[in-house]
Amino acid sequence: MPSPKAGAGRYAPSPSGDLHFGNLRTALLAWLFARHTGRAFHMRVEDIDTQRSSLESAHRQLEDLKTLGVDWDGPVTYQSDNTDRYEAALNRLPTFECYCSRRDIQEASSAPHAVPGHYPGTCRNLSESERRRKREELEQQNRVPAIRLRADTDHFTVHDHYLGEYTGDVDDFILRRGGQQPDWAYNLAVVVDDGAQGVDQVVRGDDLLSSAPRQAYLATLLETAVPGYVHVPLVLNTEGRRLAKRDGAVTLREMLADAPVSAVVAKLAASLGYSGISTPAQLLEQFDPETLPREPFEWQG
Ligand code: GLU
Repeated sequence: MPSPKAGAGRYAPSPSGDLHFGNLRTALLAWLFARHTGRAFHMRVEDIDTQRSSLESAHRQLEDLKTLGVDWDGPVTYQSDNTDRYEAALNRLPTFECYCSRRDIQEASSAPHAVPGHYPGTCRNLSESERRRKREELEQQNRVPAIRLRADTDHFTVHDHYLGEYTGDVDDFILRRGGQQPDWAYNLAVVVDDGAQGVDQVVRGDDLLSSAPRQAYLATLLETAVPGYVHVPLVLNTEGRRLAKRDGAVTLREMLADAPVSAVVAKLAASLGYSGISTPAQLLEQFDPETLPREPFEWQG
């Protein structure tokens, strides 16, 4: 076991339904990486998406993680309690208001010079009078504009434990969503909270790899340290798509209907290449990040 050092890892679930085998596997890996490297481990509920999050779901997820045997340091934090610090961060960044609807963006993105997946820049350089007019139009519909980062690069490089240097796109991404109910954007909240909580190790599913360059770039703008990233392969269903609750009997609660928790831990451990394991503590004793399977794990039921 490496000697303890400062720093922390975290698991950051979105409370929009019960955790399934894929979420549990990522949570267990985040815990294993943090504990294996002597870091603290924080639990942070990412409940800023007010349309999809519920406190009841957060409580069920936390109960499930405890049942599994994943522990964490300090109190659970909720992003919905941290909006003051998102506001403070927003005020320190170069930004502009964006009045575009999804349809406006789709249309502008199909222009010949547009970069696929990038904000096409429609609202980046509007004059003050154009802004006033567009703001008034939205106000009449009881809506507020989104706020975007005024990025001064179109790419950024991060370091990932398994992939090494990874360079990905950066655009004028959203920091605060507009509409009837403005919502803080995940990319802003995650960077601000990881910085505030001293998180220097981000272990999560590799579906978020392409967000890492945007987040790392934002961290540098906010003068907060860029964490080390560890993107881990996802669990896929038999059709090769990301495992989802509709794949059936995949949540911890469903699995516990026919098996003890030790069997679920054994199944998770087997998916990571370990046999004869019935508790996370036993798995931690044997855990070696270098032997982690690098391919997605196929869920067989
Ligand atoms: N809340 C995200 C999720 O549940 C994880 C975000 C992150 O780890 O950066 O997929």
